[in-house]
Amino acid sequence: MRKEYLLTPGPTPVPDSVKSAEARPIVHHRTKEHAELLRRVSENIKPIFKTKNIVLTLTSSGTGAMQGAVSNTLSKGDTALVIRGGKFSERWAEICEAYGVNVIPIDIEWGTSCAPEVVKKKLDENSNIKVVFGTLCETSTGTVFPIKEYGEIIKEKENTILVVDAISGLGACDIEVDKWNVDICVSASQKGLMLPPGLAFASISDKAWKFIDNSTLPKYYFDFKKARKSLETKGQTPYTPAVSLIVALDESLNMLNAEGIDNVLKRHRRLADATRSAVKALGLELLSNSPANAVTAIKVPEGIDGIELKNTFDKKYGIKIAGGQAHLKGKIIRIAHLGYMETFDVIAGISALEMSLLDLGYKIETGAGVRAAEEILRNI
Ligand SMILES: *Cc1c(COP(=O)(O)O)cnc(C)c1O
Repeated sequence: MRKEYLLTPGPTPVPDSVKSAEARPIVHHRTKEHAELLRRVSENIKPIFKTKNIVLTLTSSGTGAMQGAVSNTLSKGDTALVIRGGKFSERWAEICEAYGVNVIPIDIEWGTSCAPEVVKKKLDENSNIKVVFGTLCETSTGTVFPIKEYGEIIKEKENTILVVDAISGLGACDIEVDKWNVDICVSASQKGLMLPPGLAFASISDKAWKFIDNSTLPKYYFDFKKARKSLETKGQTPYTPAVSLIVALDESLNMLNAEGIDNVLKRHRRLADATRSAVKALGLELLSNSPANAVTAIKVPEGIDGIELKNTFDKKYGIKIAGGQAHLKGKIIRIAHLGYMETFDVIAGISALEMSLLDLGYKIETGAGVRAAEEILRNI
């Protein structure tokens, strides 16, 4: 028998009640029942974003909402600023380039964050930047970015909006869409929202709608204006949505709102603190100098093969974690504490880290990581 643990930064584990909600009979998407459901989830998701803005629910993975954010706000030949420091923030630039948008990149070392002054300087040097694309939690490095500070700078600029990928960050790392002046915030179902993959979300500010009105890039499936009209006038989506996932979303939002978003964030902070403390107690190093509360990236110690380490977690202990991407392949492992996770998910991850390292011949003090984690996990 094999018991599996999913400690990856997406997809993440799904609670039983959410799974059974997903298994309910299919609701037709052009019925009154579905309209009530879609209207309800569209309201109940707002506290998670901390916004009063409309939140569109799209049937796609998170990248669909990212593509929509580009194709709905910009026109061919426009200029965008992309803050890049990992695999996912690079995606913003790739999408822009696919649409003929000029990209001014800010390239920072993977595992570091980007100071707000750097963003301000680029904006001052280039008055034609229409959109700044940022990432709340860069999942490939476990790094959180100062979105609030970026928002302070961009809100002063009439001709620039801030678009944020909070796909892994939402529900794990602090973000307040309205207070922080985030014009478009995108997320997806399979991370902090505790759902299977298949839904994406975009909150859109009044300032962003003006950009959307003027955008001429081609769009069809991800047409935000069409989606807004459909939701507001009929409680529908333009095309068939993943109805079972929307039923499941209703349940996961009930769970998150019953806990309260601030408690959800506090829980993630506690789990992340415990993980980081355990890593240090084992004499290992974090990759990031601005570690996020969604996922912890750990440098693989000298003499150990990171791929073998990740495989040991999986094959011997039934725990799925993530490795490094691109040039970090084999050099880091990433253990998530994201979504439907609590005390013993962290303990399992840290214990497996200790045992796997010992299995591979790396000397650590058995139990030192677990002990350090327990010190923090007890403080609920
Ligand atoms: C997971 C993730 C994505 C990718 O989303 P898909 O759902 O795979 O399209 C994008 N950005 C970040 C930060 C992520 O963590």
